[in-house]
Amino acid sequence: MNYTITPIFLGSVDLDKGDSLKGTPHGVPLKVVYSCFVLRDEKREPILVDSGLMSQKDIREQQLPYRAMDDAPDLLDALRLAGVDPEEIKTCILTHLHYDHACNLRLLPSLEKIYVQQKEILYALAPEKEDYRLYMLGENCGRIEWLDGVGKFVIVDGDVPIREGIDVILTPGHSRGSQCVLVDTAEGKYILTGDTVAQWESFEKRIPNSISFDDEIWHASCEKIAAAGAKLLPSHEVGVFERKVYG
Ligand SMILES: [Zn+2]
Repeated sequence: MNYTITPIFLGSVDLDKGDSLKGTPHGVPLKVVYSCFVLRDEKREPILVDSGLMSQKDIREQQLPYRAMDDAPDLLDALRLAGVDPEEIKTCILTHLHYDHACNLRLLPSLEKIYVQQKEILYALAPEKEDYRLYMLGENCGRIEWLDGVGKFVIVDGDVPIREGIDVILTPGHSRGSQCVLVDTAEGKYILTGDTVAQWESFEKRIPNSISFDDEIWHASCEKIAAAGAKLLPSHEVGVFERKVYG
């Protein structure tokens, strides 16, 4: 089964490369996008990979400790702009449960199944204090939006087929239970790497993201991704948006 992959633009921000890629010198600008992806085939309803960050309205009005961006649409507007009807989405795969990947679940009325790795859920429920903000658990972090998925989570452990032509593989490193999504397309296999690999450069030069709980484990996950023999679509890579659709 072949799918098309549509990247959904959720905002962008200019960062310093030294703050984003471990051990990289400061002073070099890095444009970082926020994104999620929609997988489509002719027969079945679309699948959403990641559900994005919270609304800009919430960030600004509640002064949440997350980046406000001028060019960031809310998830539903972004989906509609890409020709996706949010009401058609019954299945979501979350690469991990960080605030910029696992919000908005309550806004998708038809959602039935949300695939998450067991290791990610277990860690998100009781993380190290320094990771509270990433999982929306701090006192000033607003709603813990990923918890809106309770009752719909399909908890997987390891490398698991989701449907014909779509598989998830466990790739810890950035977070304890990060997973990547392998997708068959007419152009061959693609892999949606979430934040395991947030930018192409991170993979090509094997430089872990500044958020990485264990670099050795991360390197092993990179080799697993390489072994999949697929083209990478990282979640924060601006170059991904040079095309409207893949496959
Ligand atoms: Zn992350």
